[in-house]
Amino acid sequence: MLQEFDLPARWTSLIQDYFSEAVHNLAQMWPDEQSLEISYRTIEGFDTEFANDIVKNPDLHFHAANQALRQFLIDAGSPTMYPFVRIKHLPSDQVRTVSQLRADDIGQMLALDSVVTKISGVRPRIYSAQFECMACNHAMVINQPNEQELIEPVECEQITGGCGRPKRQTRFALNHKESILINSQFIELQELPEQMKGGIQPERIICIGEHDLAGKLNPGDRVKANGVLFIRSQRKGGKDTPVFDIFLRIQSLERQNIPLEEISITEDEELEIKELARRPDI
Ligand SMILES: [Zn+2]
Repeated sequence: MLQEFDLPARWTSLIQDYFSEAVHNLAQMWPDEQSLEISYRTIEGFDTEFANDIVKNPDLHFHAANQALRQFLIDAGSPTMYPFVRIKHLPSDQVRTVSQLRADDIGQMLALDSVVTKISGVRPRIYSAQFECMACNHAMVINQPNEQELIEPVECEQITGGCGRPKRQTRFALNHKESILINSQFIELQELPEQMKGGIQPERIICIGEHDLAGKLNPGDRVKANGVLFIRSQRKGGKDTPVFDIFLRIQSLERQNIPLEEISITEDEELEIKELARRPDI
């Protein structure tokens, strides 16, 4: 594994070397564009070992990549933008169908070829929470990695000027106004009809799409969903069981085709298609 403390620096050089123009454009397009798409192939060209490490330790890399990208925007005078790096075009040995998913895949970055079957409403969730210590009014920020629980401070942070009281000696109040919310959506993906073996029910997986990925998909869309598999205990009678459900946190999306109604054919293309139709070899 690469040294964790090196990751933000490596991401900074990668973005600097290959994407400075794209970062500039992102700042111009904000908030219509909120993420920087990076092809895995570009990262492989930059450093193969670094690229391999992303697949094995994706969450560390996403954090470092987002941090590095955000720093570029801060340096360019845009401190209020929270952009996301989205990695696409994973190597073919990381591509799975839903029914191929196994315990070994948990925690890795994978690509799922699939079709969208259901979507939930888009809901806000706290991404970065600001808490205030009720004893001394000190404010502190706690990042919230998932939708499962709100993580509170363990103690009032002395390092940032707080009183140091542990949780049991004070109370921490969530300051909604100063917390950062992002959009979040549940998306159900199903394996493609051509991936199923005869007579077997298609398998499905619940995914989470956040930030600018929420609200992007519709039932029927064929997508390659790149993301990280994680597990949660199945609950029975209010208790966790040793059996797990598997979920995908989507990191990036690649559309596999354009929905029919969105295809508009220009005259030139129409001619080309007619010519192609006359060729006996197609
Ligand atoms: Zn305090």
